[in-house]
Amino acid sequence: MQDPTNLVNKFGIQAPSPLHAVTLPEGNHGYSLYVKRDDLLHPIISGNKWRKLQGHLHKMQTSGMTKCISFGGGFSNHLHALGYCCKQLDIDLTAIVRGDYNHQLTPMLQDLAHWGATLTFVDRKTYQLRDDPNYLAQLSKTHPEANLIPEGGSDTLALSGVAALLDEIPNLDHFDYLLCPVASAGTFAALAKGMKDRNSRCQLIGIAMLKGEGYLEELASRLLPNGFNLPPILHRFHCGGYAKKPDYLEAFCQALTQSGEVPVEPVYSGKLFYALQQLTQAKYFPRGSAILALHTGGLQGAR
Ligand SMILES: *Cc1c(COP(=O)(O)O)cnc(C)c1O
Repeated sequence: MQDPTNLVNKFGIQAPSPLHAVTLPEGNHGYSLYVKRDDLLHPIISGNKWRKLQGHLHKMQTSGMTKCISFGGGFSNHLHALGYCCKQLDIDLTAIVRGDYNHQLTPMLQDLAHWGATLTFVDRKTYQLRDDPNYLAQLSKTHPEANLIPEGGSDTLALSGVAALLDEIPNLDHFDYLLCPVASAGTFAALAKGMKDRNSRCQLIGIAMLKGEGYLEELASRLLPNGFNLPPILHRFHCGGYAKKPDYLEAFCQALTQSGEVPVEPVYSGKLFYALQQLTQAKYFPRGSAILALHTGGLQGAR
């Protein structure tokens, strides 16, 4: 990142985010568990979305671009974070939203509308074209000069902003493992590359938030240099699929939040810590390992 300071100050980002020890509701089974609290970076801009968007925001600021287009579902933390940033920076945002929420805006879409974004609702079929070069060329034609940002803000411009969080960790090599959630895989890819660039011995493990074995690895690989050796993604903790909230997951989230250790919601951070609990219970890691979990934010999504 050439000059993140300007934006950091402008938005009042509280970096570095805190890192502290955590005890899970059913104990830690002899492991040392920690959390890096990117949920505390900003009250509105969701943690990893701030990390991912910095590159794009910086690009738009320095090149004087005043329009952008992006994509997401009706509950998207990405669109929400981007909408807030665009409002602050006087950038016109067109949000292409999957599904028709015209008659009943979600709380996130209400915020977006309030911040002046143009909401364009498209059906699933059209939404599936979100990465299609012809569709994007068409969009560029109808919205000249607009900066296109992919779903989740996950593209190569996102990598260095996310990887920078590793430099906030005082002793990265103290940790044996770093766990992060995986959805559009931008965060995971960025951390994988960041670990490698920093020669860290700490092992990254991705936790899939949705059913996507093979697909998520492909998404991550697309953002990384050819032949990059991808760290593992574990696919057995999606709890039924994206944003699915079975009772056991809700109960776990409630227990962890109410314990006062760390607040979580069921779509991302709750699943990540649920996975951590299952893995430690099963003694998945070598005895005595120090494990750091990245809390990526998203608590606004609990509305
Ligand atoms: C978007 C999001 C993720 C997923 O990150 P990807 O880079 O899309 O894999 C994780 N946690 C939260 C809170 C998010 O909003």
